[in-house]
Amino acid sequence: RLVPAGVVAGIAMAAALLLLARKQTSLATALRKGLRDNEFFMLYQPVVALQSGQCVGAEALLRWRRSTGELIGPDVFIPLAEQTGTITALTARVLELVEHDTRHFLAAHPAFHVAVNVSTTDLESDPIVELFDAMLARGGIVAANLVVEITERGILDIEAARTVIGALRARGIKVAIDDFGTGYAGLSYLESLHVDALKIDRSFIEAIGTTAPTNQVVSHIIAMASAMRLVMVAEGVETPAQADYLRTWKVEYAQGWLYGQPQPFEAVAALATSGATLAPRFAGAAATS
Ligand code: C2E
Ligand code: MG
Ligand code: MG
Ligand code: MG
Repeated sequence: RLVPAGVVAGIAMAAALLLLARKQTSLATALRKGLRDNEFFMLYQPVVALQSGQCVGAEALLRWRRSTGELIGPDVFIPLAEQTGTITALTARVLELVEHDTRHFLAAHPAFHVAVNVSTTDLESDPIVELFDAMLARGGIVAANLVVEITERGILDIEAARTVIGALRARGIKVAIDDFGTGYAGLSYLESLHVDALKIDRSFIEAIGTTAPTNQVVSHIIAMASAMRLVMVAEGVETPAQADYLRTWKVEYAQGWLYGQPQPFEAVAALATSGATLAPRFAGAAATS
């Protein structure tokens, strides 16, 4: 052999990495262009009060429709926006979109909550609070309607996070820890962040009723959150059995395919005003379907 196999593999690997880096760079450029050309829009997933089964809020989830027609999900473009310094501009757009979509409805429904995801990268700089101040100053949405979701896993600088969370809460905005249970937040850490709510990660909800070890964890998370008087939201509820379990454990809110997929805001607003009971099936009730 003229060239050892290891070298060939190394060259192939370098070529693959180069290709990936190129693809990322062109996607980053497309992202900035997409912001200019209004290629982003929001979908809203219903949030249901578990006891009544009624839609009492919604989570705003960002989508990117490229000029090519391709739909790209936030799991792809949010990390990219974080890495390329576009995230604050993207978050600013999120707030504009949410304000545009929901302000008329919220003016007539003061108890309805809209949850907005912010990146933990946003927490490392003050502009995020300024973005919310600007939105509140415009008067379209009041603080009492808003929940800000922050992913537990991404919090690196606790001091910075605590400052931003404190500033948002001082304005009357509620703060929730997203994907709770997937990070390393211990009790004392959680306590020091002073948030209003916990969103229990879908991986734990999935384990309900199974023999997976995580099934043991979910009741502990719930017990801990209620001891700390934190409001709980279950993510990714897909089956009536999961909903029954959560209801028995007095979890207040849930979202998931069982109640509704992310959809245009008008559809969620119609659901909320209809007073419809979503997936009505209470613990102990006989299954009808
Ligand atoms: P997340 O905030 O934890 O949002 C929940 C994700 O789970 C959403 O995915 C939602 O569509 C999905 N989901 C909801 N119910 C179910 C269910 O019953 N089963 C299953 N399998 N999935 C369910 P999506 O919309 O792709 O968002 C992914 C993540 O991207 C979000 O996770 C959030 O961390 C981030 N993200 C979304 N929108 C924004 C945004 O505007 N700004 C920022 N910074 N991040 C965002
Ligand atoms: Mg979220
Ligand atoms: Mg989540
Ligand atoms: Mg997530």
